[in-house]
Amino acid sequence: MNSKEIIDKLLNGEMKLYQVDKYVSPKEATDIRREFIEKTAGCELPHMANYSLDMERASARNIENPIGTIQLPVGVAGPLKINGDYCKREVYVPLATSEGALVASINRGASTITSSGGVNAHVISDIMTRAPVIKTSSASDALKIKQWFIDNFQELKEIAESTTSHGKLLKIDPILIVGTYVYPRFVYSTGDSMGMNMVTIASEKILDKLADETTGRHIALSGNVCVDKKPAAINMIEGRGKSIVADILIPEEIVNKKLKTTAEAIEEVNIAKNLIGSAAAGSMAYNAHYANMVAAIFLATGQDAAHAVEGSLGITTAENRNGDLYFSVNLPDVPIATVGGGTSLETAHEGLDILGVAGSNKAREFGEIVAATVLAGELSLVGALAAGHLARAHQELGRG
Ligand code: NAP
Repeated sequence: MNSKEIIDKLLNGEMKLYQVDKYVSPKEATDIRREFIEKTAGCELPHMANYSLDMERASARNIENPIGTIQLPVGVAGPLKINGDYCKREVYVPLATSEGALVASINRGASTITSSGGVNAHVISDIMTRAPVIKTSSASDALKIKQWFIDNFQELKEIAESTTSHGKLLKIDPILIVGTYVYPRFVYSTGDSMGMNMVTIASEKILDKLADETTGRHIALSGNVCVDKKPAAINMIEGRGKSIVADILIPEEIVNKKLKTTAEAIEEVNIAKNLIGSAAAGSMAYNAHYANMVAAIFLATGQDAAHAVEGSLGITTAENRNGDLYFSVNLPDVPIATVGGGTSLETAHEGLDILGVAGSNKAREFGEIVAATVLAGELSLVGALAAGHLARAHQELGRG
């Protein structure tokens, strides 16, 4: 069948979009679907058509019904000096965004950090979780299922780990019970992959064993206690993905010169906005804009973009120490990878290459870079707000 015949069949409803791949190569299928969409939507898509990705590989792993790609501008911020446990060097950070001024702002933060000797960064926990929901007949039955998980942990660990060479089941904790439902939160380490596919496959094997040996039946492989791609207190407390802290002490003269403000003003803005304001609103993100930096790095390096929701969580602290500024960001929930998922897409791999963190044994180093970049952007914005606050105070004093 030639492409015109396929498009005619798509237009008259005789063929579904996903069936095109049966007749032509993935690249041709992409072009045919795009032409069909152009006709259906009455528009032209020359930019989506213009790409260098290997669509055959992408359509095998990353996308269904492809019609092309999107493009986003990528900027860099840096040099950003990092004194981490894994990353001990200066980096230029690729940031994909359409939000003007974001890269410039992060760059200002990076310059402040680098002039101050660098930002400290530590990965304090490194896990991925999956928590199915299991149906039982009563609360006492649910308690028995909970005990079954506790009693059989070693065997369940072996079963889960038989599905992967990199994944390890670390614990099953907590095991929540609500009425007749049980929610065991399986906690894994997943090497350098983000791990959601890996832990899903491993957890399925555990549930097969559960079905063989108990009356419990799983209703859904994810019972939302994981918690994947939603903001959640359990992720803030227990961590998910990389839990990362970054901090810095910035000398008074650098706060004055680079941020045009004082440690005292930054401390007050942080308390009034990030802490009290967030509490008043019932927010879980006690920060100014972690999501901006997280989303831009995620897009530039092929991370699962929906996980920016989780990366937005965390608490910023700021202290005036005799004129010097102590500043920290605390990110409990940053799911990231340097292998697997979208990281193998060509442009994503290039983004990781800029940072020197593509491939195995690099995920924690990448985590430190993410946190350092978040601190740069957070410092710059809170600093700008503090500078405005100071300027207004001076104006009012001047008028008085
Ligand atoms: P993946 O693309 O399957 O990558 C992980 C695989 O890479 C592992 O199975 C592992 O093989 C292999 N690997 C090679 N070197 C490794 C190393 N150094 N460290 C760790 N693993 C290594 O996917 P994933 O990371 O498990 O999950 C990411 C994908 O899941 C993303 O595309 C995301 O969008 C998607 N996702 C899925 C769900 C879901 O519920 N299924 C939810 C959210 C996101 P071995 O296992 O043999 O060790």
